[in-house]
Amino acid sequence: MQRQPPGSDTECCCCDRQDWISRTEELLCPDLLRMATEKLKNSKIIFVVGGPGSGKGTQCERIVQKYGYTHLSTGDLLRAEVNSGSERGKKLSAIMEKGELVPLDTVLDMLRDAMVAKVDVSKGFLIDGYPREVKQGEEFEKKIAPPTLLLYVDAGKDTMVKRLLKRGETSGRVDDNEETIKKRLDTYYKATEPVITFYEKRGIVRKLNAEGSVDDVFVQVCTHLDALK
Ligand code: ADP
Repeated sequence: MQRQPPGSDTECCCCDRQDWISRTEELLCPDLLRMATEKLKNSKIIFVVGGPGSGKGTQCERIVQKYGYTHLSTGDLLRAEVNSGSERGKKLSAIMEKGELVPLDTVLDMLRDAMVAKVDVSKGFLIDGYPREVKQGEEFEKKIAPPTLLLYVDAGKDTMVKRLLKRGETSGRVDDNEETIKKRLDTYYKATEPVITFYEKRGIVRKLNAEGSVDDVFVQVCTHLDALK
């Protein structure tokens, strides 16, 4: 989101800083943040949930190409922070290498800042890899907005392990190794599967059979997204 000319409803009303897009709340103008967050309530927000290696990122790429949605992967946002070499990044790196979940507030703030930055130009948001636990979903709704739909990318354990080991050959990701994969899968089954049950009660879960080819899965995705228009 760019700073707008005077009179626009996104103009900062309590200061004239130009550098308000930032990853830390302290540097954001609170009024501007509130207005932008309000706009997010009218956006399409699609949670993409599934185990590691189920194909979330792959499907999101296809969705971006066809529907022009904004893809936000919490894993990518966190890895970018780690690569920046910041103090926060160092702490995050230690947690991620263990296959554990990073603190809720950290992920949520990064996500909200990234969404706010795009709210004026985005056709919709794909939130990939979040929520990883029910509490994350609840907090997202409190701080941002309720999701429109949840795409549940459902692949079996063997398929996920196979895909991750293959990805690990080239990804350079610290967590694509056999030991960490096991822990990530455990975390997924314990923490994330309850998320699906939580949103099923609202009738917004669309389950994808993710055992097939990328094209097969994408056909299912399109059916659900086309129904949203
Ligand atoms: P996630 O984002 O859920 O962790 P990715 O989209 O990165 O998963 O997919 C993990 C690996 O599996 C990638 O190497 C990707 O190319 C491959 N992959 C994804 N979907 C499929 C599919 N339907 N069939 C075969 N391989 C796939």
